Amino acid sequence: MASIRQKNVTAAQWSPNGAALGSVDLSQPANNPFGANVFSLAVQRQRLPKDVFRRLQLTLEKGEALDPSLADAVAAAMKDWALEKGCTHFTHWFQPLTGSTAEKHDSFFNPAGEGTALAEFSGKELIQGEPDASSFPTGGVRATFEARGYTAWDPTSPAFILENPNGALLCIPTAFASWTGEALDAKIPLLRSMEALSTSAIRALRLLGDDASERVFTTVGPEQEYFLIDEQYYFERPDLVTTGRTLFGAKPPKGHELDDHYFGSIPDRVLACMMEAELELAKLGVPVKTRHNEVAPGQYEIAPTFENSNVGSDHQQLTMQVLETVARKYGLVCLLHEKPFAGVNGSGKHNNWSMSTDHGANLLDPGASPADNIKFLFFCAAVIQAVNKHQGLLRASVANIGQDHRLGANEAPPAIISIFLGADLEKVFEAIESGEGDPHTPGSFLGLGTPVLPPLPMHGGDRNRTSPFAFTGNKFEFRALGSSMSLAFPNTVLNTIVAEAIDDLADRLESAGGADPAEKVTAVVKEVYAQNKQVCFGGDNYSEEWHAEAEARGLKNLRTTPDALPEVLAEASVAAFERYAVLSARELESRFEVWVEQYVMQANIEAETTASIARTLLVPAVLRHLALIDSAQVGVLSEEMRPLLDDLITALGALDEANVHPDGVEGVDLAVHARDRQLAAMSGVRQVADRLEKLVADDLWPLPKYSEILFIK
Ligand code: ADP
Ligand code: MG
Repeated sequence: MASIRQKNVTAAQWSPNGAALGSVDLSQPANNPFGANVFSLAVQRQRLPKDVFRRLQLTLEKGEALDPSLADAVAAAMKDWALEKGCTHFTHWFQPLTGSTAEKHDSFFNPAGEGTALAEFSGKELIQGEPDASSFPTGGVRATFEARGYTAWDPTSPAFILENPNGALLCIPTAFASWTGEALDAKIPLLRSMEALSTSAIRALRLLGDDASERVFTTVGPEQEYFLIDEQYYFERPDLVTTGRTLFGAKPPKGHELDDHYFGSIPDRVLACMMEAELELAKLGVPVKTRHNEVAPGQYEIAPTFENSNVGSDHQQLTMQVLETVARKYGLVCLLHEKPFAGVNGSGKHNNWSMSTDHGANLLDPGASPADNIKFLFFCAAVIQAVNKHQGLLRASVANIGQDHRLGANEAPPAIISIFLGADLEKVFEAIESGEGDPHTPGSFLGLGTPVLPPLPMHGGDRNRTSPFAFTGNKFEFRALGSSMSLAFPNTVLNTIVAEAIDDLADRLESAGGADPAEKVTAVVKEVYAQNKQVCFGGDNYSEEWHAEAEARGLKNLRTTPDALPEVLAEASVAAFERYAVLSARELESRFEVWVEQYVMQANIEAETTASIARTLLVPAVLRHLALIDSAQVGVLSEEMRPLLDDLITALGALDEANVHPDGVEGVDLAVHARDRQLAAMSGVRQVADRLEKLVADDLWPLPKYSEILFIK
């Protein structure tokens, strides 16, 4: 390991993997790869018997329970389609509480006697699976029962085929529950929350004079940030391999100060990799739309067009998986960790969220004149109330150990949840609340000072990149998610708390006096805004002043995961989840336990990796360098280095002590120990090590440096 920098010649070398990718004639509809590997509506229409197709669609549209008699016909069609596409196996694809996806592959083929095999796939196999689930986290839900878990087909998220160079796999999106019916996954509560929101929103729409809409869907469009680095550096960094982030690394002379990476031209190898990833995602029906360089060197972003929350959430899991898989074909590794490099911007995920009727009307679209749009004002006020009431729960929904390096640092929204409405909308709500002033903002145009450029229509509010929850035109953008996260829980929370607020506003509307619907809505909005406007903030969320003001306003500031997670079990959280049957108290407790345990285990893995790298890689490097100094007999250099070596060894001793978990401490208390003792001691070791990195001979330093990892493309 000692001479890594001499071997760097292999980094950044690549050959275009799919040289012919771009060469098909895309003007021919048949060449459009979108959805090629999806058992989509179009494929179903083609392959299912007419009446089966019709009954299945009717069931899905109404959100009703599936008639099991349909399952055999669907399974047969799905199997034929999959076999034609080269699938040998199928899997129930699900999302246990590990935060990733899970799959267990079963062959379609069964022995048929006389040494032959036949492909079979029954409706029963489609609808239900029973993986040996004893090793998935359950937070105690199953402790007193059997270790049995079931997967159940989710017909609302289409089946798809994952390709591998040596074959293909039919993936059937499924839910995962204990045999007593308790949710053990991310999907079940999300589906329940979508149902809850639909019911509440339809009730409100009726009060607002809409008799046509039957269902309301929540929508999600996630913007995903990620790093791509050369795989050589990845494999030379045991910290990256084991923990997904660098536990050591001095700040390089050049970071992103020059802002020369953001939206810059995309390096050839990276673009080739992105294009192949996008092609794979297109085949899977993921509507990828946008790509660009992000702020940090080596950081990029991908965003799709929005979809309903369930499909969007499944697609987001696939996006992360495809990015990771395809990167390897280009000698790259995709890092999804929230903070892979200290001192360099971390990665988040922006969760664009809205509600849409089955007739395609976006309930958060203000239209040309928001002040006169009572539907919009009603639903927007409901969101404001929900976010204010459940600040802590929203914060907890984006808590993980990686996020603790990001939220509140000067690069990501703070840990304080607040809403940015934008100038125009704020004006509308303020005018309604005070009963004074004109809520209207006439449309205006921005002249660019030369007749050759067209005048641009001005937007109702500027952007505010610092806000954790911003209204952006016709949707809210929850910006505090971490890059590695599943969308499922944050959206489960959003849907549930907004359902609750909609019902509360609907109650008020029902009991409001007067006959004019617009007047009644205005009265309710006025009251709701006055009660909840403390959560609205249009200024710089990074500033010290905001932190002080937020405290004065009584807003929560839950800085770390151990601070935030208990909010999951707060009285108001449990009440909302139980009222809408999204998660029972028991299901919530189990999740809380799993998340606390994950934090403790991840902190411990990081702490032990830090100790091991420092002791077995860094200390020996310093000793070699000292031997060099001693052989040259340069006293000053020796005097400079020896105290640092002593400091490193002392810091390591402290880390070793912290790494012994105290007896009898568990749950959140253990998480607090991990945070205050282990992570603190780790940073003690790192500080000295990063100083030594700048002193030890370059060819003796065993870890690739930030200046290499981030800049050699
Ligand atoms: P911005 O640049 O303001 O973030 P974009 O139009 O680029 O806005 O959209 C960002 C993301 O928001 C995209 O993934 C987009 O599909 C998504 N989005 C747009 N409208 C909605 C909506 N009604 N519901 C959910 N997501 C949406
Ligand atoms: Mg955005």
